Amino acid sequence: MACHALIISDKGLIMAKDKPQGSRVLHVFTNILPSSPTPPPLPPEVPSRQWMYWQMFRAVTKKVIRAPFSLHTWAALRRAMISNFLPDTLGYRYKAYQQGECNRCGLCCKIQFQCPFFIDEGEYNTRCSIYTTPHAPSACLKFPVDPTDLKLLQREIGNACTFYFEGAPQKLSIIDFARLYAQGVRQHFAKRKLKEAPENGD
Ligand code: SF4
Ligand code: SF4
Repeated sequence: MACHALIISDKGLIMAKDKPQGSRVLHVFTNILPSSPTPPPLPPEVPSRQWMYWQMFRAVTKKVIRAPFSLHTWAALRRAMISNFLPDTLGYRYKAYQQGECNRCGLCCKIQFQCPFFIDEGEYNTRCSIYTTPHAPSACLKFPVDPTDLKLLQREIGNACTFYFEGAPQKLSIIDFARLYAQGVRQHFAKRKLKEAPENGD
């Protein structure tokens, strides 16, 4: 078993092989401490994590600054709230009614300003450099969350988006909403517990 000696001395906590006189030793077994998981590699278009977070911060700031005179900022905020704070039982209610496919026109990534993660490889051949990474914004992954979300986006890009909705789920009373919310939260924690369980545990 891997072991390091932590010495408590007048100089504070030090790590050493030999025990200085008059100090106490704490043995720390490093291989039973949970090691932090290795972060997934970054896509080639993203030079570093710092650069990525800085670009995200800049993009959000630019959006917020435009809030007083752009409805799009509020539409983006609405989608961010729905996709980040509602459990799947509510956030995905409209997915069964969503039709069409993304034609990769890229117009939704160029409203107000061009997103720093947007890659243009020709007409109808655009892509997002972080879409398949854990850093992709939930609001981008879950678009369109409902017909209002789609309508607000279509307004900005001249109805060029090829998604549409056919039909709609039944309207929810406040009690139904609360029930689905509670159910979604329970499912979320059950899934998380399952993920955290050791693979060979019993
Ligand atoms: S506007 Fe619609 S069709 Fe065009 S890239 Fe965005 S999601 Fe796809
Ligand atoms: S899908 Fe990617 S490129 Fe488009 S706005 Fe979202 S993060 Fe930016």
